Amino acid sequence: MTKAVEQLTAILARFVDFSGKYLPDDVLVRLRELRAEEDSPMGTRIYDAMFRDLDLAAELNRPCCQDTGVIQFFVQAGTAFPCLGELETALREAVIRATAAAPLRPNVVECFDEKNTGNNTGTRIPWIDWELVPNSSGIRVFVYMAGGGCSLPGFARVFMPLEGYEGAVKAVFDQVVSYGINACPPLLIGIGLGASADAAAKLSKKALLRFIGSRNSGGAAELETRLEKGLNALGIGPGGFSGKHSVMAVHVEHSGRHTATLALGFSTGCWAHRRALIEITGDLRSTLLSHRRASLDGVWERFSPDYPAANPSGSSHAAGKGKP
Ligand code: SF4
Repeated sequence: MTKAVEQLTAILARFVDFSGKYLPDDVLVRLRELRAEEDSPMGTRIYDAMFRDLDLAAELNRPCCQDTGVIQFFVQAGTAFPCLGELETALREAVIRATAAAPLRPNVVECFDEKNTGNNTGTRIPWIDWELVPNSSGIRVFVYMAGGGCSLPGFARVFMPLEGYEGAVKAVFDQVVSYGINACPPLLIGIGLGASADAAAKLSKKALLRFIGSRNSGGAAELETRLEKGLNALGIGPGGFSGKHSVMAVHVEHSGRHTATLALGFSTGCWAHRRALIEITGDLRSTLLSHRRASLDGVWERFSPDYPAANPSGSSHAAGKGKP
């Protein structure tokens, strides 16, 4: 391993370690808003328990949830990034190091032999989604810890022409009613609409990367607003103990589709939505874009009253829809 690749691996390992312990700014802001709006005694106590949990995680330097998930990376890679050829190896090694250092619970079991690999890597894991960015020498990396409970409600389905949007909305409600509580509400709902089950599923996961507080545009924005209102009216509430908000937000991403079909992808994030974004330049300077009042060495303001909403998708997307 060259000196540069070793440096890159160390940054990424610290990044993974950190992201299991500190929620991103937008999630914290939203949880604070929901706590302020909640008026059920049980609901407010659940939110208070969440904040106590986050305080303790910081104080004890431990993950804020025991389920640190199967680790997924979403990489926007500049084609001129000097370590591009070694990046996959660095990401994999970073997971192994963070698992030992944080520590993160080893969650990865290989299919069929059902043995835990012990270090959170495995066949095609960490899962890596690649986007190439021409004429750039830097990278942006999202890490997402896909816990068991918050992955459980996920599904994808292709609807017949006559089922259309109504069929998709009904399926979303059925899924949240059946499995939403498993994902530790208030939930972040990611919806992908597109041409095929695989494309819609991928879009639904990308929807979870968008910062809370952003809205898509046009019909997608209207669907986000209406679903949010309808899902909150279910009264599932924080932790499933009833309350005003069942969801932190609903995000819809879409692509073109076949005229005869509509594919729906559905993913959920939990209240402990551990999604972080880092930018690394070609000379290996790093900036944490999801946690504006933090660096990989620590957090200096976690819950101040005027905590600003940040855009974890970074400044280059701030004027747009906050898409990854
Ligand atoms: S759903 Fe989220 S908060 Fe609940 S156990 Fe899983 S990872 Fe933890």
